[in-house]
Amino acid sequence: MKKIVYLRLFVFFCLCSSPAIAQKPAKQPAPDAGLSLISRQTIEAHLSFLASDALEGRQAGKNGSRVAAEYIKAVLSEYGVKPFYDTYFQPFEAYSPAREKGFDFQVHPDSIARYTQLPAYRKVRLQNVIGYIEGERKEEYVIIGAHYDHLGVDDLLAGDKIYNGADDNAASVSALLQIAKSFVVSGKKPSRSIVFAFWDGEEINYLGSEYFVENVGSHSQIKAYINLDMISREGLLPTLYPAFEIPEATDKNTASANQFHLVYTGELEALNKKIDKGIADNHLHIIPKPAVIAHGARGSDYLAFSLRNIPVLWFFTGLHPDYHTPGDETGTLNLEKLFDITKVIYLSLKLLANEE
Ligand SMILES: [Zn+2]
Repeated sequence: MKKIVYLRLFVFFCLCSSPAIAQKPAKQPAPDAGLSLISRQTIEAHLSFLASDALEGRQAGKNGSRVAAEYIKAVLSEYGVKPFYDTYFQPFEAYSPAREKGFDFQVHPDSIARYTQLPAYRKVRLQNVIGYIEGERKEEYVIIGAHYDHLGVDDLLAGDKIYNGADDNAASVSALLQIAKSFVVSGKKPSRSIVFAFWDGEEINYLGSEYFVENVGSHSQIKAYINLDMISREGLLPTLYPAFEIPEATDKNTASANQFHLVYTGELEALNKKIDKGIADNHLHIIPKPAVIAHGARGSDYLAFSLRNIPVLWFFTGLHPDYHTPGDETGTLNLEKLFDITKVIYLSLKLLANEE
């Protein structure tokens, strides 16, 4: 870092010693008001509550996830982010056959009709938490989302029994709360309306995002979906299409400490360069590793959107050895990286919410 400072001083000195250039200094981009509102301390405060043992791993349908939902709602309200529907909560139910594993929960009415004919079935009550900022072109939307549920508690585990889900996905929820605040407080109305979605039931078949997309009305009005899932460590990008598989780790598919996977469907190719410029202009110490995915790729809540041909962008720092274990705790996170990636996500949302 010191080398960069010396280099800048040297460049500054050279510019100043040339009279022709000294009269016309290169124009610096104006500092972004919203960006400077993003606070590392606040992100950490949200994170340490959401990933604490008190929330018992935020399992969908259980008490810990309801506490998380109430917390997100209270923070959105405090920040002045309006609810998307009449209230912040979008409640829904999911069903599965009695003998199946949790992964087979479904929200589609046809599946529910079929399962409720069975002699025994399982039912879980869930809720998305959804905030909203109205844009100039009110009927055009950009949606940004992060799931807040995780895997809960397993009493049969030896040792630590709580899946805290700090990287998966309390970190993203904390980042998204800060980003929503920045959009409200910076005061400028975006061109497009922005929906801030906190999904329930991601860990049991991407239920919250699927329910929302199934019921939201016209999909052509949704210009893009930005997904935040696991954004504060370093690791591997799995194979996502046609199935979720874990390949051998190589330099090409692994993000290091100052890198993240910028995963997108082909329509958003041009956004890449603009994100690079935002990172450079704002001196953020983080580097994207771009990766294109097919519509229909599995892995996280973007699936519901990409299946309906909505362009998606996913911020992801990769799978790591603590993924889906009780070891995914706050102490293992790279908080400096989380802070920088939150800013990159804010800039990307701003681009998508304001482009023609
Ligand atoms: Zn996740």
